[in-house]
Order: sequence, then C-alpha cells, then structure tokens
Amino acid sequence: MDARIIDELRRVAGIDGVRLDDAAREEAAADKWFARTVPDAVVFARSTASVAGVMKIVSREKISVTTRGAGHGYVGGCVPVRGGIVLSTARMDRIKEVSAEDFVAVVEPGVITGHLQDAARRKGLFYPPDPASLKDCSIGGNIATNAGGPRCLKYGVTRNYVLGLEVVLADGTVARVGGRTHKNKTGFDLVGIFTGSEGMLGIVTEATLRLLPWPPSRAVLSASFPDMPKAAAAVQSIFAHGHLPSAAEIADRFTLEAARKHAGAETAIPPGEAHLLVEIDGQEASVRAEAAELTGLLRDAHAVSVESATTNEGCDRLWALRRGFSASLKATGMKKLNEDIVVPRGRLVELVEFGAQLGRDYDVPVACFGHAGDGNIHVNLMVDNPDDPATKERMERALDALFQGVLAMGGSITGEHGVGLAKKRWWKQAIDAGADDLHRRIKRALDPEDLLNPGKFLDQ
Ligand SMILES: Cc1cc2nc3c(=O)[nH]c(=O)nc-3n(C[C@H](O)[C@H](O)[C@H](O)COP(=O)(O)OP(=O)(O)OC[C@H]3O[C@@H](n4cnc5c(N)ncnc54)[C@H](O)[C@@H]3O)c2cc1C
Repeated sequence: MDARIIDELRRVAGIDGVRLDDAAREEAAADKWFARTVPDAVVFARSTASVAGVMKIVSREKISVTTRGAGHGYVGGCVPVRGGIVLSTARMDRIKEVSAEDFVAVVEPGVITGHLQDAARRKGLFYPPDPASLKDCSIGGNIATNAGGPRCLKYGVTRNYVLGLEVVLADGTVARVGGRTHKNKTGFDLVGIFTGSEGMLGIVTEATLRLLPWPPSRAVLSASFPDMPKAAAAVQSIFAHGHLPSAAEIADRFTLEAARKHAGAETAIPPGEAHLLVEIDGQEASVRAEAAELTGLLRDAHAVSVESATTNEGCDRLWALRRGFSASLKATGMKKLNEDIVVPRGRLVELVEFGAQLGRDYDVPVACFGHAGDGNIHVNLMVDNPDDPATKERMERALDALFQGVLAMGGSITGEHGVGLAKKRWWKQAIDAGADDLHRRIKRALDPEDLLNPGKFLDQ
C-alpha cells in the first residue's frame, strides 16, 4: 500500500492503529471457516471519528475495507477476499451505559457479547441473544450477522434487541438510525437494513440495545427418546399444549454417541437415541408448575427418561451435555461440515428424517443437533478424509441436496451464521429474483463503488 495512504491512515487512526506487520495481517486473514486472504493492512479503530476518517480516505482511493469484529464467524464473512484493509473494531470495546431506568445498553461494537450480558445481569437486567460463541464474539458481529442462539425461541434474535445504531457509510458519512426508545416509527426501518447486512452496507460504531428484566427463576428438563422423529414430535406437542419454552434443543444418535465417548465423566448422558433439552424461565411459582406439566407432556410423548432441575447449578449441569456436543463431535477426529439450515417449525419431523436419508444417500454420517423450537438444526456432515478429491466431490453434492431439500420445505440455507463466503454458491437458489435485485439496489445506493466487504454473496 502507498506510503502516502499509510501516513494518512496513521493520522486518523494513530501510529499504533495501523498495522502492516505479518502477524497482524495473518491474524486478520480468516474467521472460524476455512477461507483466508491476507489483507494489505489492518486498522484498529478507536472511535467513530477514526472509522469515518478511514472511510473518507479509502473511498477517495477506492480501497476495499472489510470490517472485522472478533473473527468468530462461521461463514468467512470477515475474510478480506479482495485484500485492501481490514478494519478491526476490537479496540472499540466500551460499554458506555447500562440503564435500569430505560432498559437499554449503549455499547461500542467491539464489546464481547458475554461481557454485555454480565454487565446487564449485575443490574438485574437481561440481554437475551445467546450465540454459543458469546464468550468470544462481538456485538458488532452479532448485529452484522443478526446472530441467534437457543434462547431465541422465546426471546427472538439480535434484531429484536437493536433499538438504535450509529453507522459509518462507505463515503465516511456518520448516520444515527433508530434511537433509545423501545418503540419508534420515524421513517423507514433503517436499523433493520443494517442488522444482518454482513458488513456490506456500513460499519456499526455504536449500538443502543434493548434490555429486559432478569427472569428470577428457571427450570431445565432433559429428556431422551427412542428416536429423533419422536423427540421432534415432542417439541411440536409442547407448542400444541400452549407452552413457549425459552429453549428447546434437540440432538440425534450420532451426536449422543460422540458425547458418550468423548464428554467428561462429570457429564451425565441419558439413555436413548435422541435427546431434547427444554428450558423455561419466569416467576418461581409459574416455572415450577410449568416444569411439572412439561414433564408429564414429555412422558406422554414417549420420552424414555426425563430429568429436571430448578436450581442454577442443576440447570447448568443439564446444559453441560448440550454445550459439549460441538466439542464431542470435534473429538471424533472427523471434519465437521456444519450447516445451520432452518425449516418452518411444522416441518421439523420431516427435516430430521431428511437428514438421516441424506446420510444414507451420500454415505456420510450426519450429526444433527440444535434449536429444534425454531426449526433451526445444525446439520453436520461428518467427514473422515476431507482432502480426498472423491470425498470432496461427494460432499459438495450432499450439500447441494441438503440445501435443495431445505428450500423445497420452504426453509432457508442459513438461520444464524449468514451467507458470507461459505453459502455464496447457493445464494441465487436461495433468494427470490426480485429480492436479489433489491439487495443489489440497496448495496449500490449505499456503497456504489463496492468498497465495503466486497467479494461476498452479491458478487456473482
Ligand atoms: C463455536 C462457535 C459457535 C457459534 N455459535 C453461534 C450461534 O449459536 N448462533 C449464531 O448466530 N452464530 C454462532 N456462531 C457464529 C458467530 O459467532 C456469529 O456469526 C457472530 O455474530 C460473529 O461475531 P464476530 O464478532 O466474531 O464477527 P466477525 O466474524 O468478526 O464478523 C462477522 C461479520 O460481521 C461483520 N462485522 C463485524 N463487526 C461489524 C461492525 N461493527 N459493523 C459492520 N459489520 C461488522 C463482518 O464484516 C462479517 O461479515 C458461532 C461461531 C463459533 C465459532
């Protein structure tokens, strides 16, 4: 990169804010997916003014900019495929305010999600979005991917908690959209346009987030079933009986077997071929009554075992099994191709049967677990020899069949992680032609030179 441009960047981001060394550039080359491209420079912004200053320089010079939060994405979203600059928000990590009066938090984008949850909790408040990566990922990344997690069943995804945003546009303009109120109907839903936009429309430099009162009581039920269709049917029975748990997480036989082999001795693994974990929260008396009712309901739905907990320690112990699934699958030594597909709730039983059939058709073990209540199941193709060309080719065809099947059910190719690079190949199939065109028009209006996170799903 031209020395003159580097000098200019240093003037707006500080000497230590512009890194050209291999270590910094290598670290900014990838997320948790496998693609990597080393950028020319990494700029660590400390303020909105520095982000705006950087964008003014790069828009004049037509240099690509890829925003990086904590780099814990799963789809290559922050990989700078066109080189240029990676703009990291990691140093913009201040929690500016947690207000118990207005039930809002005002944060910089680099705040780690779990840190915000802890800060809210200390004031008796609750920030529900709970991606499994919450100890590592940032609020900016969560907003850009509209992240979800188990609790989204009752509480909704990140979008439901974004009241206001400050964004820096491609030309360096700073815009504040939405606000601090829990309702706001002034103009278009611009917060919605930026939320989930995967860093392609603007750079989030501040967020005002909605908080809830902390629910004082919780209960967890851990049930096992003779097979996945019965476990999936139990979820539908829970809804049919008027319950809305805060989480309903399912796991199949392959996942349970991996946990039996690899989870630590402290994790109790129930019998059966499928597992369902249900959490409810609220006021103590209603939680206890609902837990008792749900226990009966799960038994009626053919559960072979049901264990329950109402203390925090007990609930966490039951969650330990679910939280360990990813690690147990990794410990098999196989490569896990994790697809976070989602189908309409009513098609859940069909989806788990389809997953099993896919495994037989393409001769690949399939491990399914995830957010059953939302129809958002992580379908993991478990591959023994990922570098073998024939296996690679077979897996590509299996993925084609998976996405085709999911779309045919009225579902979507990603429920949480986003499209990024990982699902770029299937974008055209997954989106209505009119909606594709609308995406392109919005992108052109906000970033006519295609500087912000170029090379991702609109690049085809
Ligand atoms: C073990 C593991 C478990 C996971 N579990 C879940 C889960 O349960 N639910 C879920 O939804 N996801 C999950 N993910 C995926 C990932 O954690 C989320 O996508 C998360 O939101 C990424 O945040 P990040 O800060 O790491 O973003 P990054 O990876 O740094 O970036 C992700 C995208 O956001 C953009 N971006 C980042 N910051 C900004 C900003 N300030 N302004 C504009 N654009 C920005 C980037 O350009 C990129 O496109 C998981 C990932 C891992 C590794």
